[in-house]
Amino acid sequence: MKTLQFFGNRDLRFVDIPKPTPRPDEVLLRVTDAGLSQGTVAEFIEGPFIANAEPHPLTGLALPFIPCQEFGGEVEAVGEGVDDTLIGTFAAVLPAIRCNECANCKSGKDNLCEKLAYRGLLGAHGGFTEYLTVKTSDLFPVKDATLLNLVEPMLVATHAIAMTKAKAELSGTVHVLGAGCIGICTAAILQQIHKLDVTLSDPRENRLARAAGMGFKTMSVEDVEQSAGSANIVFDAAGKELQFGKQPLDLAIDICQPGGSIVGIGTYFITLDLLPARFLFSEKTIIPSFAYTSADVATLAKNITALELDFASMITRIPFDQIIEKGYYQAELDRDVFTRIVTSVFD
Ligand SMILES: [Zn+2]
Repeated sequence: MKTLQFFGNRDLRFVDIPKPTPRPDEVLLRVTDAGLSQGTVAEFIEGPFIANAEPHPLTGLALPFIPCQEFGGEVEAVGEGVDDTLIGTFAAVLPAIRCNECANCKSGKDNLCEKLAYRGLLGAHGGFTEYLTVKTSDLFPVKDATLLNLVEPMLVATHAIAMTKAKAELSGTVHVLGAGCIGICTAAILQQIHKLDVTLSDPRENRLARAAGMGFKTMSVEDVEQSAGSANIVFDAAGKELQFGKQPLDLAIDICQPGGSIVGIGTYFITLDLLPARFLFSEKTIIPSFAYTSADVATLAKNITALELDFASMITRIPFDQIIEKGYYQAELDRDVFTRIVTSVFD
């Protein structure tokens, strides 16, 4: 069967491998939706930052492996003893693989597992393939197939909100920096589940227009420049791109009110130039948020059906055999054209 494999910096290859067979606690999943995130593009263009060259301590797998951490599909077959009514159902795949034995796993902070593997990014195969076998406990059933590749970014958003609730009061005005996939998912949960007053900003006008079209309050460049201290919680979901000439975290500190919180979701592999006194004198708190926990999976399962949003408007589908040119390289050249590229061998 056809797979895409990531070998290292700017090195992706289509590789034929045998179709897997599900073991007793597994299903065989036909991948119908596999999304290309900016993080995955950055691994290819500038990295690898996350992908491991040495065997992973939990899985034993090292580069090359199949990329893509946000994907799902249809259960085509089940292993021995697995409920066969799962056949024909659709599910997203939970990408985090944990040891379930370390102190962090046992205390519920299993996003910080000492041996964490993450499908498509670290020590485990991801979704740019025809089929893969998955443990039934790693399936996240969805009724709306549009959401198959959005479960992972929604889990990341769910964790960021849970981290905020644990450390600050989740109330008042909220600003989300970045109207990409993670930003939209975060804003949707904050607005529709937590009923908060949310504003999104982004330097890319087409993303901002799409966010407005999806029903979000948005802010123009000029307004952001005038918006110092306008929100008590600022989610930085902007990645590493400069926002209005500033590093996103820098801008987030400006937008945050004294005593407020800045929640960092963007993955940074760049050096920030920050003066600590800027948040020291105003007691602004920075809350980092990484991946998601098992508790976040339960929270999202409860919330996902209540979200009403035109998620399909974020998605551009392209053929699987054009994923390198029209996906990875197009994303490097022109980030305006899409929010999520989704592909499948079966399109
Ligand atoms: Zn662990």
